[in-house]
Amino acid sequence: MPIDATLPYDDENIFAKILRGEIPSKKVYEDEWAYAFHDIAPQAPLHILVIPKGRYVSWDDFSAKASADEIAGFVRAVGTIARDHDLVEPGYRLLGNVGADGGQEVPHLHVHLFGGKPLGRMIS
Ligand code: 5GP
Repeated sequence: MPIDATLPYDDENIFAKILRGEIPSKKVYEDEWAYAFHDIAPQAPLHILVIPKGRYVSWDDFSAKASADEIAGFVRAVGTIARDHDLVEPGYRLLGNVGADGGQEVPHLHVHLFGGKPLGRMIS
């Protein structure tokens, strides 16, 4: 069910629980700013979710409220993960769903990283 991205952060959302280690995830990367893990229902041969460690519902409050260090750390983590998986030359796709019309279901900011095959021009 898509969420309202303007709601306050819910500490019981599934990605908050993953960050706290309360439910398992297949970790691919972690640093001071970001945590990344395989999507439970992959839509490409490689489908990774990258989340900031801070409490942000969506791209909206992250871009408005996060510090420059948090934003830089998160963006650098996404790039590092792509390079670590040798995705730069074949290419890959980043996707961020925001709020109801964007189809966002989990209320903790996440970027989808897809790769491992030609992805065409769009995922709608
Ligand atoms: P959204 O639609 O919010 O952008 O995408 C949420 C993503 O989280 C979906 O691709 C979904 O498969 C994934 N997801 C939902 N619950 C879990 C979970 O418990 N573990 C993992 N690894 N992925 C999840």
